[in-house]
Amino acid sequence: MAAFGTVFMPQMALSRFDGSRWSEAEMVASDSISLHPGAHVLHYSSTCFEGLKAFKQPDGSIKLFRMDKNVERFAQSSELLSLPSIDKQATAKMITDIVALYADEVPAPPGSMYVRPTHFGIDPAIGKAAAPSETSLQYVLLSPVGEYFSSDGGGLRLLLDETGMRCAPHNGMIKSGGNYASALRPIMQARDKYKADQVLFCPGGFAQETGAANFLLIDDGEVITKALDESFLHGVTRDSILTLAKDMGMKVSERELSVEEILERAAKPSCEAALSGTAAVLAPVGTFIHNDKEYQVADGNEGPVTKQLRQAMNDLQWGLAEDKHGWLFDV
Ligand SMILES: *Cc1c(COP(=O)(O)O)cnc(C)c1O
Repeated sequence: MAAFGTVFMPQMALSRFDGSRWSEAEMVASDSISLHPGAHVLHYSSTCFEGLKAFKQPDGSIKLFRMDKNVERFAQSSELLSLPSIDKQATAKMITDIVALYADEVPAPPGSMYVRPTHFGIDPAIGKAAAPSETSLQYVLLSPVGEYFSSDGGGLRLLLDETGMRCAPHNGMIKSGGNYASALRPIMQARDKYKADQVLFCPGGFAQETGAANFLLIDDGEVITKALDESFLHGVTRDSILTLAKDMGMKVSERELSVEEILERAAKPSCEAALSGTAAVLAPVGTFIHNDKEYQVADGNEGPVTKQLRQAMNDLQWGLAEDKHGWLFDV
């Protein structure tokens, strides 16, 4: 099967901001856009994006999961990057229109249609190193995906890094390419040196997040994760899992989680750890690596609560469980 995110629908929805207004959205070929080589984004990284999914329901209809949250975050990222403001209603319509156009191409569960709204500055002005782009381009690209989660039962290897940082702390809640570029070198080094799958950045000795996912520790009927602040990305999956955990009667604690506490709890047979994000929902962590030592999380395999929470999310997204919180949007 093709790698995640390498297959695209032939058309995408696109709109431009000319400095005063957004153009009417149009459907255009998704394999090319033309950009001036001096475009602001190519030099000063004025870019943000979103990631959400559309799911095929048992009755054949298509539903988008928590689109309102993603559009809200897209607007916030645009604002924090000093990009032109998006029109949230118009962006939501671009998303539903393009998904409706390709409704027949939405894979059945466990597959889905991954939706990638993208917004960037296009002023052809390389002198604007310290000034925002007044013009921008926004598109919504679609990629049909299979199951991301590999269910061999084994957990990920996670390096706990207390010295590095994913990105500048004041940029943490912006979903922007620059933050990914900034995290790449530490991730590659952790792969080379420790065969780690991901790095859990722990600035000051407290768990923050990995390069592209939030971190949750589960122990004794409690889900523990960092409380929201501007230093990290506020995942829609994180929020959804915490809500479902509360629905199941679990205790949810949003607080600081020290490396020391993580390693201490990891040895307990009841401990589970997972990464949360739209692509995999919850991916189990099997091993922590810290100061050249390895710490297995319980028996190193996916724990029952991680599995149960992921199943609850999947059931809701696939239309097999009641949508109590109004998270599914019609296309
Ligand atoms: C997208 C992203 C997440 C996960 O967010 P979801 O809304 O759950 O997909 C977590 N961390 C980073 C850095 C991200 O970019």
